[in-house]
Amino acid sequence: MSSEEALVKIDIGDKLPKVASGKVRDLYAIDDNTLLFVASDRISAYDVVMENGIPGKGALLTSMSKFWFTYLPTIIPSLQTHYLTSSLPAPLTPAPPHLSPRAMQVRRLRIIPIESIVRGYITGSAWAEYTARGTIHDIALPTGLVQGQKLPVPLWTPSTKAECGRKDENISPHAARTIIADDAVAATVEQLSLAIYKAAAARAEARGIILADTKFEFGLDERGNVVLVDEVLTPDSSRFWPRESWEANLGGPQPSFDKQFLRDWLTGEGLKGKEGVRVPEEIVRKTAEKYREAYEKITGEAA
Ligand code: ATP
Ligand code: MG
Repeated sequence: MSSEEALVKIDIGDKLPKVASGKVRDLYAIDDNTLLFVASDRISAYDVVMENGIPGKGALLTSMSKFWFTYLPTIIPSLQTHYLTSSLPAPLTPAPPHLSPRAMQVRRLRIIPIESIVRGYITGSAWAEYTARGTIHDIALPTGLVQGQKLPVPLWTPSTKAECGRKDENISPHAARTIIADDAVAATVEQLSLAIYKAAAARAEARGIILADTKFEFGLDERGNVVLVDEVLTPDSSRFWPRESWEANLGGPQPSFDKQFLRDWLTGEGLKGKEGVRVPEEIVRKTAEKYREAYEKITGEAA
C-alpha cells in the first residue's frame, strides 16, 4: 500500500458522533461514558501533520498501547487505565473496512491538562535547555552531562497540553502542580508517571531497547481516581534507542526506533515545522520499518 492509500478515510460519523479529532487520533462517542479511540496512519512531527501517512501505523500503535495497558497493571497493581476492549460496539457491526485493528473502546474521562513526560536520559528539548541554562524544566542538574547520557534518576518533566495547532511548552514540576491545582492528584500523576516509566524502561531494556523518554496523559473518573489514558509507550509518544549502540553514540544524536528518523529528514531538508510536507516513499518505508521493529522487539510478537 502506498502512503497515499494509507490515509484512507475511515468515516463512521454516520454511525457514531465524532467528539474530537487530534493530529493522529479520532474520537467517537459510544455513550456518555465510553469512547471509540481510532488511530489513523497520519504522522506528525514538530507538531505538524504530514500530507501522507505511514501504512499500518494506526494498527501497530493500537496494538502497542493495548500491550502496555494489559502489561502495566500486572507490575503496578494500583494502576487504572482507560482501556476497555478491542471489540467494536454494536452500531459498527458489520465492521467497516480497516477499522477494527486501529480501534479500541476506552472510558470517557476528564483529561488532566498537562503532558506528563518522564525522562531517563537527556536529549531533545531537555538537552537544549541544559546546554543553555544547566537545567531541564527548571530542575538544576549536575554540570558536565553529555547528550544522550542517563540522568542520575528519571525525572518528571511535564509540559503544557496546548490547544490544537499550538506547541506544547516545557514547564517545571511546580508549574504543572499549579495547573493540576489539586495537590493529591498532582502527586499521584507524578508518582504513577515515574512508576510506569520505570516498569516500561525495565521491560524495554531487557529486550535491548532504551526508553529515553516518554509522555503520558491522565484523566479523572467520576470518583476522582487518576486513570492512564490516550496512547501509551508507542514510538509516537516515546524515544526508543537501541541499547547496543548507545554508548558509542554518547555526546551526539542516537539512532532510534521512533520518528526521530522523520524529524532528521525534515531538519536536513529545512522543512522543520513547515505545513504541507509530503514525505518521500523511502522515508515512509524506513519509518514504517522502525515502528514495526520497535513493536516486535518490545512485545515479542510479530507485527
Ligand atoms: P498530539 O498527541 O499529536 O499532540 P492531540 O493530543 O491534539 O495531538 P490526538 O493525540 O490525536 O490529539 O488525540 C487524542 C485526544 O484524545 C487527546 O486530546 C487526548 O487528551 C484525548 N483523550 C485520550 N484519552 C481520552 C479519554 N479516555 N477520554 C477523553 N479524551 C481522551
Ligand atoms: Mg495526543
